[in-house]
Amino acid sequence: MMGMIARAGGELTPCAEDADVIVVNTCSFIESAQQESVNTILEMAGHKTAGKAKRLVVAGCLVERFRDQIRKDIPEVDAVVGTGELEQILAAAGLNGGAIHRATSPSPLVVLPSRPEGDARAKQGRFSRDAWDGGVSDLPNYLYDEATPRVLATPHYRAYIKIAEGCDHPCTFCIIPQLRGQFRSRRFESVIAEAERLARTGVREITLIGQDTTCYGEDLGLKDGLALLLGKLALIEELRWVRFLYAYPNKITGRLLETIAGNPKICPYMDVPLQHASASVLKRMKRGGGSDVFLRSIAKMRRVIPDLTLRTSFIVGFPGETEKEFVELCDFVREAEFDWMGAFSYSDQEGAGAFDLPKKLSPREIEARRKHLMTIQRQISRRKKKALVGKSFDLLLEGESEETDLLLEGRTAMHAPEIDGKVWVNEFPEEMEPRIGDFYRCQITEAHDYDLVAKVVA
Ligand code: SF4
Repeated sequence: MMGMIARAGGELTPCAEDADVIVVNTCSFIESAQQESVNTILEMAGHKTAGKAKRLVVAGCLVERFRDQIRKDIPEVDAVVGTGELEQILAAAGLNGGAIHRATSPSPLVVLPSRPEGDARAKQGRFSRDAWDGGVSDLPNYLYDEATPRVLATPHYRAYIKIAEGCDHPCTFCIIPQLRGQFRSRRFESVIAEAERLARTGVREITLIGQDTTCYGEDLGLKDGLALLLGKLALIEELRWVRFLYAYPNKITGRLLETIAGNPKICPYMDVPLQHASASVLKRMKRGGGSDVFLRSIAKMRRVIPDLTLRTSFIVGFPGETEKEFVELCDFVREAEFDWMGAFSYSDQEGAGAFDLPKKLSPREIEARRKHLMTIQRQISRRKKKALVGKSFDLLLEGESEETDLLLEGRTAMHAPEIDGKVWVNEFPEEMEPRIGDFYRCQITEAHDYDLVAKVVA
């Protein structure tokens, strides 16, 4: 949307006070995200009633979920733009000479290839929004391509590339398939062309994203599409690091692991959200698997990629989660020894399969379990970070530390942008003038629970 606005002559500003048009891009994944989105819209509405702004546009997933309600309950909102209607941002911002388009019509029908799983899930009603009140437009089918203008919201040396959109999985706690639509991959050549263009403009680290990157290419008839894509991206000379996020556990193939292991530019880093470890909870989540299966596949990942950094996340307090099932999760976390781990409290979502499940846990119990799990992980993390002291890594220097301007901050291949711990840098060789966005060789000198301290050695 920023790229389209800039191309149409709009000037972008991060300051709401300076803006003529304010665009709030929203999330609707869980209740706290919905609340945060609503709070931001209300705050921005204040800039319209008492400030310079003339228009307020709400975009993103909250629009897919509460389209009519936003228009009805927040009259300051001039236009809404769903996740499948991105091109309408220009009309919504009043930039193509027309009046504000009241974006309620469905986006034009684009027939995309699909996966048999996706078609089957559609028949089962996976993408149905019937349980939701209010008018909603057709399911989004938008996909950007290499010709779509982009303005990076990230620093000049790193970029995210979305390689696929939507999701066909049946996870019962999740409404993302209803918000984002059926799984669809961007064309292989389109992703490569975008990465090459970004690399030419100075990007050195690419992070591939999608709701499920490991399904990439299945709808295009590609086998091991993600592995092929990573291999090809690693050939782009200017790129230094290529990584991907959000692997679905049973979609990780031997070829993918070997591609990561065999290519120094592909970060030996995997983010595999497992969501739980108890087979009975995973069954109720409609995800499958269990601690034994997961431990075996983690062992394989570590065997093929010996220097692997493994991140996962869990949902705690899923409806009916018994004490025994929770203990199983805790035991699993102790045994698996993840490098990074997130724990999220279960959040009830109307329209998700789990919404109608019995035996909901109290928020207090859920929070107590979440804290307990994080305490276990903190100890594991402390131990693992300590073992890194004295070792050397490549480090991407990112700027002043958010904690103190006396320290600089960076990341190694073990740290995905914006999510993992930090590496504080407190020492450089005397003659060196550190430059943001450059790579250095560093040695770890100190370790905290999650963060590291390092000195640059070359
Ligand atoms: S795979 Fe991820 S996005 Fe897809 S339904 Fe499951 S939790 Fe949601």
